[in-house]
Amino acid sequence: MKIIFLGAPGAGKGTQAAEVSRRFGIPTISTGNMIREAIAGGSPIGIAAKEKIAKGQLLDDETVIGIVRDKLNSIQGGYILDGFPRTIAQAEALEEMGVEIDAVINIYVPDDTIVKRAAGRRYCPGCGATYHTEYNPPQKKVDGESGDGVCTLCGTPVAVREDDKEATVRRRLEIYHSETQPLEDFYKARGKLATVVGQELVADTTALTLQALEKGN
Ligand SMILES: [Zn+2]
Repeated sequence: MKIIFLGAPGAGKGTQAAEVSRRFGIPTISTGNMIREAIAGGSPIGIAAKEKIAKGQLLDDETVIGIVRDKLNSIQGGYILDGFPRTIAQAEALEEMGVEIDAVINIYVPDDTIVKRAAGRRYCPGCGATYHTEYNPPQKKVDGESGDGVCTLCGTPVAVREDDKEATVRRRLEIYHSETQPLEDFYKARGKLATVVGQELVADTTALTLQALEKGN
C-alpha cells in the first residue's frame, strides 16, 4: 500500500504516519531523510543538493523530485510518504514516475487549535526535555516566582522555542495553505482523498485514520 499524508505543520500527521507505518509494517519515507541520505551517499543529485544547502538556498522542486525518484525506484512494496509531495508540481512528478498512490490521508486541525497547542509547548535549554503547560507541565518553582517553571529533570527554567511562537507558527501555516493545500483538490479529483479531523487524543485520531484507510480498500 502506498499512502500520502497531508496536513498542516502541527496537525500531527507525522505521529499518525508513524502509527500507520507500525501497524501496516511499511516504512515511512520522509523528504528530510531522503535528502540527508542522498547527500551522504554522494550521488550527483546529492552533491547538487549539498551545494545548494551550503549556499543557503532552498531546494527547488527539480532537485527534490530527483532525489525522491532515485529513492522510490529502489523500494519494493508499500510505503508512506511524509513531506512529499508538497506542491502540485511535485504531485504531478509523482504521477509521471508511474507511482500509484492508494490513499491520501489529510489530517485536518483548525489553525487556531494548532497555534494554541504550540503556545503551550516548552522545552528545557539544559537537557532538551519537552513540556506542555496544559498536558505535561514543568515543575513550579518552589519560591512562587513568576514564569513557566523549571525542568523536572535538571531544574533549568523552561523556555519557548522560536518555532512555537505564534508569528512563526502562523507563517508556516500560511505557506502550507498557499503551497500544499491545493493538493487536497488534486487528490480529491482523483478519488484518493480522505480527510480525518484531528482529535484531542492521538489514539482517537489514529482510530479515524485506520477507518479511513479501510474504507479506501
Ligand atoms: Zn532539563
